[in-house]
Amino acid sequence: MRNELTKHTFGACMIVLLLSFGLMLYVLNSYLVKRNFSELKDKALYVSEILNVEGEDVLSRVHHGGDMRITVVAPDGSVLYDSHVAPDTMENHLEREEIQQALSKGEGSSQHYSQSMFQNTANYAVRLQNGDILRVSIRQDTLWHLLRNLALPMLLFLLLAALVSIILAARASRRIVDPIDRMDVENPDDRDVYDELKPFVHRLITQNQQIHRQMEAIQAEHRKQDSLRREFTANVSHELKTPLTSISGFAEIIRDGMVKDEDIPHFADNIYKEAARLMELVNDILKLSHLEDINDRPDRERTSVELNALCREVTSRLAISAEKNGISIRCDGESVNVTGVRPMLEEIIYNVCDNAIKYNRKGGWVHISTHKQDGKAVVCVRDNGIGIPQADCGRVFERFYRVNKSHSKEVGGTGLGLSIVKHGMAFHAGQIKLQSVLGEGTEISLLLPAEE
Ligand code: ADP
Repeated sequence: MRNELTKHTFGACMIVLLLSFGLMLYVLNSYLVKRNFSELKDKALYVSEILNVEGEDVLSRVHHGGDMRITVVAPDGSVLYDSHVAPDTMENHLEREEIQQALSKGEGSSQHYSQSMFQNTANYAVRLQNGDILRVSIRQDTLWHLLRNLALPMLLFLLLAALVSIILAARASRRIVDPIDRMDVENPDDRDVYDELKPFVHRLITQNQQIHRQMEAIQAEHRKQDSLRREFTANVSHELKTPLTSISGFAEIIRDGMVKDEDIPHFADNIYKEAARLMELVNDILKLSHLEDINDRPDRERTSVELNALCREVTSRLAISAEKNGISIRCDGESVNVTGVRPMLEEIIYNVCDNAIKYNRKGGWVHISTHKQDGKAVVCVRDNGIGIPQADCGRVFERFYRVNKSHSKEVGGTGLGLSIVKHGMAFHAGQIKLQSVLGEGTEISLLLPAEE
């Protein structure tokens, strides 16, 4: 910017300078020409006075050899006298402009460029009392002559002026740019900037504030995520440690021969159950971390999935477990399509239905239904199981959150099922609604954007 300003200011200076120079020369030249002419006229009038009084003979008596040329022309145009050339060698002057004017008006003038463009001849003619015409001529320098003579000093002057202009232009542009350069972009202050820059500075201030707020929000989010991650790691370690401690405890007392032979199958069964639990935990943790990964890659391939058929599949997968727990399970409703990742949707529905069986009572029921409502596909899973206390309803989607730890463990829960549901629904831009009455039952509705 500084260089641009310098360049333009310097350019403007040079243009103004050259124009002034041209104008000055023109004015000077006009002045000189005018002055020469009036001098010439004075001289002509003076000589004509002398000739009128003394007669033309006086001319032949004086020797005249200066710059000024005197010619006397008869009214028929023939040259009677010339101070520089023999009159009989000269052509008839009747057609000359100044002679014509003098013959008709008493006086006349003309200018001729003679020999070169650097000089011209100014003529002034006056009619004498005897009818002859007196012509006085003088050579004068033209503008070009002036230019040629002045070329060197002018060039030097121009160079000097250019030098001064460039220094001044650089200084001026520095003075203009310096306040902009000094501006602190991080903390702009609208008091020491140009008025024209104030809107820009205001915008900068608002944007800085916006960035600041966003940065703070991002940092807060990072802090929250960090603490969640730490909490999750601590929870995972704790959850993994519990079955591992049991397994190593059981194995240790068997190794040390502290278990009677007939009790060994029982202990082995315990080890088996704890190992199965470990497997389930690891599986759920992997599922969750996988879900977090694909949340960062929302371009994962989606297909059209019919939810009623999917619910029926899940129902049949859970039929044995329902029967084992003495619970009746039923699925109905209308067919409704969504666009999504089928295995993920299946996992979501499975987890919710599995909970409805796990947290139920003997002789209870689970009812799964699908329908379409306000452009949403709704999967509704109801049970008349143990229900969730009001205070816990908001927390059951947290990782490892269990209302009743021992009951959850008994039924093989990891505390991660509803977390997986929550992440999966977020991935599908869905919503979860939970209603539960302790001791009466629970209803979980999954709402997903339906296909047209
Ligand atoms: P878990 O693996 O322990 O089942 P979830 O994340 O699936 O973990 O569920 C969290 C907790 O929410 C469960 O431990 C349970 O206490 C409660 N819960 C979930 N579904 C139901 C339901 N249908 N009826 C009663 N309680 C439920």
